[in-house]
Amino acid sequence: MGSEFELIRKYFTHPGQHTVLGVGDDAALMRLSPGRILAASSDMLVAGRHFFPDTDPCRLGHKALAVNLSDLAAMGALPRWVLLSLALPRADEAWVAAFAAGFADEARTYGVDWVGGDTTGGPLNLSVTILGEVDAQRALKRSGAVPGDTVWLSGTVGDAALGLAALLGRYPLPEAARQGCVGRLERPTPRVALGQALAGLAHSAIDISDGLLADLGHLVRASGVGAELEYSALPLAPLLAERASEALVREAILAGGDDYELCFTAAMADTEAVLAAARLTATPVAAIGVITAGAGVRVRDSSGVFLSTRRTGFDHFSSQGQQ
Ligand code: ADP
Ligand code: MG
Repeated sequence: MGSEFELIRKYFTHPGQHTVLGVGDDAALMRLSPGRILAASSDMLVAGRHFFPDTDPCRLGHKALAVNLSDLAAMGALPRWVLLSLALPRADEAWVAAFAAGFADEARTYGVDWVGGDTTGGPLNLSVTILGEVDAQRALKRSGAVPGDTVWLSGTVGDAALGLAALLGRYPLPEAARQGCVGRLERPTPRVALGQALAGLAHSAIDISDGLLADLGHLVRASGVGAELEYSALPLAPLLAERASEALVREAILAGGDDYELCFTAAMADTEAVLAAARLTATPVAAIGVITAGAGVRVRDSSGVFLSTRRTGFDHFSSQGQQ
């Protein structure tokens, strides 16, 4: 493998579309659109903890950026720039090339300029910093939910957790279902367009990285409210519907992580506007519950009984390896 500088020149240098000065100097220079404020977020992915070291490097490149895009989506922000800092354990130029291709492809897809980073030797570790912009008054925060709001969820949750369980050998899946679930785990779709369409409309939002109950729990805590979900209203991915015991499906949906869907709240009077935003961005959404004046997240089954949801992490998914 070439030197750090050759790697940077060969794989990490891409022309920007909206950047004053990109890779190659001591810092990148960027200009915000007039009247907008900066949104910034970082996510670190550690081999053996957040991904298997033998994960396909191109998929990993996509995912390293996708999970960061998801954070900006949850703020209603437009992603604009990204920096990648990585530690590489060994001289594997093919790995670097494939990883960089996946990362650059994801950046291109979402109109993000790759403007810098850092490259060093060490245990495989990826740290991504994403920068975006948003109207100050329209940014989506966790803290804006109010009693009476409808709780919404994009897409479906749970399939990524089943994919992880399959990869860990804890849950056998037929090949097609396995590929689908592992695909959700390794190639999440950040809901960037939906997040922006919800800016100024939704009262609060969070992206689901650690599981629906855990992440909605962060949102209601930040807002000083509670939430009541209808279990029967939770959208079930076809892959989950066709497989698995009821208990496993329930755990995957409520506690499985790595879905990168958006959970958000909006006034009931804005139901039509939310559905229009979903149509406009071709993103499925479902109303899954309501915000209450209480605290915490409760889930009601179809007979009106609250499920026991004390264990939000589940042995199948959380006891070792990845999280
Ligand atoms: P410095 O010593 O000033 O930190 P570096 O040699 O680390 O500079 O980096 C040189 C240039 O290459 C900088 O513009 C930096 O942002 C960029 N760079 C380094 N690593 C990466 C990377 N993984 N992805 C994108 N740009 C990178
Ligand atoms: Mg450096």
